Amino acid sequence: MVDSELTFKDSNECLLVIMPSVVIRLLAHRQLYWNSKEAAGVLIGERRGPHLVIQDISEPGEGDIRSRFSVDRQGPHHQIAVDKAFAQSSGTLQYLGEWHTHPEDQPSPSAKDLSSWRRHLVDSEQMLLVIVGREEIWAAKKIADTIVPLNKI
Ligand SMILES: [Zn+2]
Repeated sequence: MVDSELTFKDSNECLLVIMPSVVIRLLAHRQLYWNSKEAAGVLIGERRGPHLVIQDISEPGEGDIRSRFSVDRQGPHHQIAVDKAFAQSSGTLQYLGEWHTHPEDQPSPSAKDLSSWRRHLVDSEQMLLVIVGREEIWAAKKIADTIVPLNKI
């Protein structure tokens, strides 16, 4: 994978852009070794009309409970990162969704991921879901109860 920005789109030509600095940070958490633990955090960025730009993330930290196949994002630093970005940008940078890693090359959501997103990620706006695999990054939008995978371009 390259260290440049990543762009995805949906069937309506709406874009998702992940800024290069975020791509580098996401790739650093890939589960490349047998003992690598799952990592997770929140996605922070901008809604530009129908397009979404991920500018920042939170990363694993104190309070998170991590194993190879699960992660419980309990640390208070995730919400603090969202609040800080929102305040410093006068509301431009917002919570856009969640990311986590999978120990597989081409990641896809597990049944547990889908049910947890349906239960916990409830918003009137479209929310983003990102899974960082060993070779690929999977991204989707959650629109009401529907999860729509995005195509990398
Ligand atoms: Zn998962």
